[in-house]
Amino acid sequence: MRKIVVVDRYRCAYCGACISVCKFNANELIETFLHIYDDRCNGCGICVKVCPMGALKVIECST
Ligand code: SF4
Ligand code: SF4
Repeated sequence: MRKIVVVDRYRCAYCGACISVCKFNANELIETFLHIYDDRCNGCGICVKVCPMGALKVIECST
């Protein structure tokens, strides 16, 4: 099953740390909104490790 990362928008502080470590350009800050591009994210989890707010988690995706 495919894995992707999801963001808890109530925890995210929009620091940008997750963006700088993603090698797949799968996330982007749009004003005060962290957007995850599901088609680019492979669920590697690198961004989860650098998030200071614990706002990211990898989930299994059925699509
Ligand atoms: S899980 Fe990996 S590919 Fe997906 S947004 Fe995080 S660093 Fe990028
Ligand atoms: S590292 Fe965490 S707090 Fe910072 S922008 Fe990404 S999800 Fe938000």
